[in-house]
Amino acid sequence: MRYQVWAFVRSLLIATMTLVAVIVVGSVGSGLLNQPAANAQLSQVSRQIPVFRRPVSPPRSQPSAANQPFMTLSPGRGSYTPAEEYAPADPTNFGDRFITDAFGMPTYQAPIVVIHETVSSANSALNYFRTPHPRDADQRSYHALIRRNGTVVYIVPPERRAFGAGNSVFDGPNGIETVTTNPLFPPSVNNFAYHISLESPTDGRGNQSRHSGYTTVQYQSLAWLIARTGVPQDRITTHRAVDRSGSRRDPRSFDTQRFAAALQDLAA
Ligand SMILES: [Zn+2]
Repeated sequence: MRYQVWAFVRSLLIATMTLVAVIVVGSVGSGLLNQPAANAQLSQVSRQIPVFRRPVSPPRSQPSAANQPFMTLSPGRGSYTPAEEYAPADPTNFGDRFITDAFGMPTYQAPIVVIHETVSSANSALNYFRTPHPRDADQRSYHALIRRNGTVVYIVPPERRAFGAGNSVFDGPNGIETVTTNPLFPPSVNNFAYHISLESPTDGRGNQSRHSGYTTVQYQSLAWLIARTGVPQDRITTHRAVDRSGSRRDPRSFDTQRFAAALQDLAA
């Protein structure tokens, strides 16, 4: 008698467990099969809530044409060859170039060059970039810097995004170009910019509007480095020109004629 009760309870238990298993497998299975429906639900939700989708960085490991690095430096040309140094920035001070913006739209901008000046000495700027800055607002970098003696210092690789000009717009031959990579910050040219900074003279370390300018070898190295980027002349600009914060005036006392002459010497 007892055995019969136990057998009944046991078969009841087995039946219950089987039922639960069927329900679990069924719901997982239907979840997989109903992917489009689930996606539709998700996209409905994401339309209602402004969810920040982190832009995807280009998969550099894949060699297909669509996944080429955004920018590479060709070998330098001409008879002038500057000294070169490498002073890599801490990874907190630069990021990936994005192939989609913060709203999921593809980024299409061709590279530009943005010219800056350090205001401080080259070494103190390099020290800043080498120092980790966990807070977004403190993160800063250039791709390269040119010392007073013409030495080119490489800081951030060209395929990565240096944080050189927050809140900025390039108003060039194709109209207004700028990219929002983080909806918490104003749009910026950083996603498609190569930032080069000239070391300021010692009389330019303050907030004055002018100073004694840059050395001939700085102009030569600047032209040499820009030639390496392959960026055309109508896409070379300054921090002052792209800035939309109203606070940037660099590079102060930049001599566009001397720069044009250096570019021309290189082409000759
Ligand atoms: Zn600047």
